[in-house]
Amino acid sequence: MSIVLEATGLRVEYGKTVALGDFSMTLSAGVRLGLIGPNGAGKTTSLKAIAGLLPLDAGRVRVLGCDIEPGNVLAESRIGFAPDTPPIYEELYVADFLRFIGKAYRLRNAMIEERIDFWLEQLWLLDLRESKIKTLSRGMRQRLTVARTLMPDPTLVLLDEPAAGLDPAGRVQFRKMLGSLRDQGKALVVSSHILADLHEYCTHIGIMEGGRLRQLGTVAQ
Ligand code: ATP
Repeated sequence: MSIVLEATGLRVEYGKTVALGDFSMTLSAGVRLGLIGPNGAGKTTSLKAIAGLLPLDAGRVRVLGCDIEPGNVLAESRIGFAPDTPPIYEELYVADFLRFIGKAYRLRNAMIEERIDFWLEQLWLLDLRESKIKTLSRGMRQRLTVARTLMPDPTLVLLDEPAAGLDPAGRVQFRKMLGSLRDQGKALVVSSHILADLHEYCTHIGIMEGGRLRQLGTVAQ
């Protein structure tokens, strides 16, 4: 299996708080890792650090063998990060928002339209295609954020609490969608507080506490 992510010795400090300490993990294609831990455990910080969105106090992140550093646009385009409170443009229509993202990543127009259709269908948003974002509910916004994250076809997908606003039927559908990512050879990290959810989506579970990854193993382990 090809290695998608190598994170080694990541450390992030906020003043005197060590939000992330000595965080290391290696993920292969097809792995879906659920990160669980109490509030403040460092889940969001670890995802942001991997995505290259935070300055590291120590450590190194490599995605498909490329270092993630400021300005390495090619490497960064291989990572898709969906934050838990996503910045989205209230006045845009759903399809136009995804079109904008596609253009920002310099995708060809035909590919943009193809991917909009595909991801709206995968995230059961087709009926909302021409809706303004400001009219969407929280769960709909979360699904749109996941669609937006997957538009550029990243190899490493980082989702921060993506299922928190989904209803029970939505969680079932979401699980199916995540299953299809495995078949596309992506590696996935999903954070959540709900272990029952993660164990249904994921191949592996990581337990965080106090800024550290305390355990990492398969769901069976
Ligand atoms: P939650 O489950 O509540 O989302 P989390 O596991 O994602 O929590 P983080 O958001 O990564 O936790 O926070 C880890 C630690 O870093 C906490 O102690 C938090 O207070 C601190 N922290 C996070 N962001 C900042 C910031 N911008 N400035 C200062 N401290 C921060």
